[in-house]
Amino acid sequence: MKLATKLIHAGATPDPSTGAIMTPVFQTSTYVQEAPGVNKGYEYARSQNPTRKALEDAYAIIENAQYALAFSSGVAATDSVMKLLNPGDEVIAANDMYGGSYRLFTKVWERYNIKFIYTDTSNAANVQAAVTPNTKLIWVETPTNPLMNITDIEAVAAVAKKAGAWLCVDNTFASPYLQNPLDLGADIVMHSATKYLGGHSDVIQGCLMMNDATLREKLYFIQKSCGAVPGPQDCFLVLRGIKTLGVRMKAHCENGEKIAHWLRKHPKVSKVYWPGFEDNAGYAVAKKQMKGFGGMISFELKDGTEAEVKRVLSSTHLFSLAESLGGVESLINHPATMTHASIPREERIKNGLGDGLIRLSVGIEDADDLIADLQQAIG
Ligand SMILES: *Cc1c(COP(=O)(O)O)cnc(C)c1O
Repeated sequence: MKLATKLIHAGATPDPSTGAIMTPVFQTSTYVQEAPGVNKGYEYARSQNPTRKALEDAYAIIENAQYALAFSSGVAATDSVMKLLNPGDEVIAANDMYGGSYRLFTKVWERYNIKFIYTDTSNAANVQAAVTPNTKLIWVETPTNPLMNITDIEAVAAVAKKAGAWLCVDNTFASPYLQNPLDLGADIVMHSATKYLGGHSDVIQGCLMMNDATLREKLYFIQKSCGAVPGPQDCFLVLRGIKTLGVRMKAHCENGEKIAHWLRKHPKVSKVYWPGFEDNAGYAVAKKQMKGFGGMISFELKDGTEAEVKRVLSSTHLFSLAESLGGVESLINHPATMTHASIPREERIKNGLGDGLIRLSVGIEDADDLIADLQQAIG
């Protein structure tokens, strides 16, 4: 079955009691049992919920995975992966990634004696060089947030396999429509479903997809024991969002391409970060492992003074100044003070994320209107 069809039908079976075509919101905490231990596969809603089950089935199908688990947020999904580890274990992580993942690793998990080694994962040789006998997990994000660096998933998966470590890919920016890391050798895929999967800026949720049954058992145990589960209403919203992921991603990609090229020609713009430029360092790998280049773009102004950057950020009308991304509406963001404020400034600058960087989440409005809005803001 082709992806466009899968996205509409994944996980959906008409409700057996009524025929309702949409999976109902099973807003219940428990399930009545016929006799002790005799039940319909549902005992208590932290462990199982039918709306969540439909969504988890859908998650697995759209990432070409055997199994999937839904969590109350993207960071809760990431946190659950960390709970696979033991004190003394080492994680090799990308040096350019979502600020909240960095905060979780450094401020929470380092306290439990998990060691993190940060490196530029866009070169698999760097990852190989960081491997020690204690390496248990490799954590990459591609494209990265917000610099759009590309990591070769197949190459890093080979390093992970040799090291006997799990490779987890944060696939939030690409979405399952553009990239499927399990097909390239990753062990776990993580998404912030808050972004493209939900797609309408109305829900916080995360998920993990995997093929290995033992890994699924371990992660299900963590999901149920630690309890970071999403509510049924949120699961319903993401199930609904997934149905239009295909048409939305197509529009995000088309608009992203137009805006990236337009920005690059703008006399007041000094640099544009978008994986679809042929002279971009990650272009060949992006072309190989992604079906499109997405709607995320970052750029720098020639006049990168605080006043000018602030002026542009406050002058757009269609692009709303907000954190988050992946919704139908366009957003503009200042990573240094917003999404990535939790990364120490010198660490941030060292990794190429300057104070003047502006990030766009290009929505699915008309591209000409979006360009006109940027034109009047940049001047
Ligand atoms: C938003 C985001 C997360 C965290 O997800 P939440 O749903 O906000 O908890 C993780 N990774 C990336 C790339 C993100 O953009």
